[in-house]
Amino acid sequence: MNQHTYDVAIIGGGAAGLSAALVLSRALRSVLVVDAGRPRNAPAAHMHGYLSRDGFPPSDLLASGREEVTRYGGILLEGRVTEVLPDGRTGFWALVDSGQRIAARRVLVTTGLRDELPEIPGLRDRWARDVLHCPYCHGHEVRDRQLGVIGDGPAAVRYAQIVRQWTHDLVYFTPPDVLTQAERAGLVARAIGVVEGDIEQLVVDDDQLRGVQMADGCVVPRDALFVPPRFVPHSDLLAGVGCDIDDAGWVTADPTGRTSVPGVWVAGNVVDPRAQVITAAGAGSAAAIALNADLVEDDVASAVRDFNRGFSPSPTTRPAHLTL
Ligand SMILES: Cc1cc2nc3c(=O)[nH]c(=O)nc-3n(C[C@H](O)[C@H](O)[C@H](O)COP(=O)(O)OP(=O)(O)OC[C@H]3O[C@@H](n4cnc5c(N)ncnc54)[C@H](O)[C@@H]3O)c2cc1C
Repeated sequence: MNQHTYDVAIIGGGAAGLSAALVLSRALRSVLVVDAGRPRNAPAAHMHGYLSRDGFPPSDLLASGREEVTRYGGILLEGRVTEVLPDGRTGFWALVDSGQRIAARRVLVTTGLRDELPEIPGLRDRWARDVLHCPYCHGHEVRDRQLGVIGDGPAAVRYAQIVRQWTHDLVYFTPPDVLTQAERAGLVARAIGVVEGDIEQLVVDDDQLRGVQMADGCVVPRDALFVPPRFVPHSDLLAGVGCDIDDAGWVTADPTGRTSVPGVWVAGNVVDPRAQVITAAGAGSAAAIALNADLVEDDVASAVRDFNRGFSPSPTTRPAHLTL
């Protein structure tokens, strides 16, 4: 028996992937979402800034999304895709760690990114609790408290100036001898404390951050810290199938998520580190609409081919598995 070929295999079932799956399954496309179940914001108790869902546990948003996708016939599969391969025609195989091989006309990769944190004792344990990365996500919850920013370089100074929006009591921790005169002047002018030196560890007591201990033993009391992570996209599958990747490891794609490999698309944090949940979902939706148009072009070409060979037009484009 021939294996079913999905219109679209979506790799990654976070906000971007599920949103794309919803749009495509509502467009009567056959869709399979393979998800390894580790969305980036899983450690956070609440999700903020998503209109109409502010304060939701992140897992609740995805549970609703999965329910909506299956309601329209989308198929969900738990697992990790280990490789994407061209099938030798115009489609692809996605190999899943369970040993399954998924056939699809198009592939949408929405695998997100990994946050790499500086190696400071105690930091990772407090991640998404009182060590935070995004003031737009969590700044309001710690507003007016004693906050710190740990950083190194011009981007971190700009980030500290943004965090200043949420508190009058901010300290910028940075290694010695890296601040320029202009950066220092900007920090001082907005009453941002500057602590230059090496950090020994975070001080935690009673399951709460208390401060930052410097190498000289001095402890600077802080309630929460903002730390800009290094964003590392989960782009191995994209590199493996031959997509153009820039020097920093990010896949290149057009605004709809179309990569350099025909038939392979991307959306969400895997291509855009700035995407919040709502914008990742929006990018998934936009990619789905562009992907459907691409599939329609294919459908037209094959219908014309069939018609010219004397086959009568098919009465419906609805995939067999969705026919009630
Ligand atoms: C601690 C923290 C808190 C945050 N809080 C907020 C907030 O309050 N509001 C907000 O808007 N944003 C927040 N964000 C950002 C938010 O996490 C991202 O915007 C969002 O997760 C991006 O969605 P995505 O679908 O691109 O990726 P993800 O949500 O990361 O989903 C990717 C999915 O792909 C899966 N996957 C990866 N590789 C494979 C593979 N090979 N095969 C199969 N599946 C795979 C992963 O397991 C995961 O389930 C926060 C981020 C962090 C780190």
